[in-house]
Amino acid sequence: MVPERTVAPQTAKAGEVPFLVYGAPLIGEAEIAEVVDTLRSGWLGTGPKTQRFEQAMAEYLGVPQAVALNSCTAGLHLALDVLGLGPGDEVITTPMTFVATANVIVHTGATPVFADVDPVTGNLDPASVAAAITPRTKAILVVHYTGRAAEMDTICALARQHTLAVVEDCAHAIETLYHGAHAGTLGDIAAYSFYATKNLVTGEGGLVVTTRPEFQDALRCRSLHGLNRNAWQRYGASGSGTYEAVYPGYKYNMMDIQASLGIHQLARLESSWQRRRTIWQRYDEAFAGLDILETPAPTSPGCRDAYHLYTVRLDLPTLRVDRDGFADALRERRIGTGVHFWPVHLHRWYRETFQFRENAFPHAEAIGRSTLSLPLSPAMSDADSERVIAAVHELARTLRR
Ligand SMILES: *Cc1c(COP(=O)(O)O)cnc(C)c1O
Repeated sequence: MVPERTVAPQTAKAGEVPFLVYGAPLIGEAEIAEVVDTLRSGWLGTGPKTQRFEQAMAEYLGVPQAVALNSCTAGLHLALDVLGLGPGDEVITTPMTFVATANVIVHTGATPVFADVDPVTGNLDPASVAAAITPRTKAILVVHYTGRAAEMDTICALARQHTLAVVEDCAHAIETLYHGAHAGTLGDIAAYSFYATKNLVTGEGGLVVTTRPEFQDALRCRSLHGLNRNAWQRYGASGSGTYEAVYPGYKYNMMDIQASLGIHQLARLESSWQRRRTIWQRYDEAFAGLDILETPAPTSPGCRDAYHLYTVRLDLPTLRVDRDGFADALRERRIGTGVHFWPVHLHRWYRETFQFRENAFPHAEAIGRSTLSLPLSPAMSDADSERVIAAVHELARTLRR
């Protein structure tokens, strides 16, 4: 199948092999037409298209309401904010994530406490979470790493036992199902990302949902300065001009230009997922015989994987280069990769502020040293994935120790 590719990345000069970006978005004519329609409509901010996108997302996830935002980071911050977290509180999370997950804990004044991950899946290890619980623990911030569902049964049971909130970082996990339930509907509050490399793309963008009706109004209100009316309700055709701040909230709202992309990205979510799964299966098959790397673990029983990131683990002792050297060699072959992730506790601010030692979370650190995300995107053609496969096979021969 050749996917629709209306916006070819302009990265190659004439005669050059195009640079293959690891998470290139697939933008179709429908998105482009909707954005143009919004630009011509005279209403660019949060308005009718954001509302349409929120309703469509809520329907997709099977939740009563959803609040569209300008990022997932905003959603995670709002989640911790409405939970009332602050100085003296501890939030347990994974070091195998993007720094935003931990940063938002710091933004509330609470303390991030890391637990180690499962060495195979890279998801939080429930035993390590249990060992990290103290009387100050208030919440567990779970990440569904690479789109693979975290062990929610065990984590939610721990949370109930210790009266902790569960927040889900679903940045990778919009299509993830855990025993039939959507990732993001298992804990108390969840946030999704629509950043340019994610599975549903609005450029920048995010969404927050809750299974706790008592948080719904606060999430919405605090996402827009803590006002009791949004701009559409104030300036729209049936609006009323009066409003007041009922909380010192944040500027986290999505605008209709972003929602214009989101509406059509949601419509192609399933076909994009299927395209990524096809590439994923082709990679699995092509790399099965290679001993220089391990392919991603199979999907956990009873779950649906979002297939967000195809992260291989390099078997470094078999290679003459480290992970970055391997990535450089791929880049020379005009293939882009990502690192998901360098563990958060080893980033300078976290290391210096919390005095983390190396080997504090050995599984996360081992993944952090050896993991590499190969290009995976619905915008890729079969020829693109075959080029990646050929390059990895070539390097398996030439970079072997
Ligand atoms: C991308 C990402 C985020 C942040 O998403 P934004 O929409 O860019 O704020 C948070 N957590 C994880 C795991 C991510 O990969």
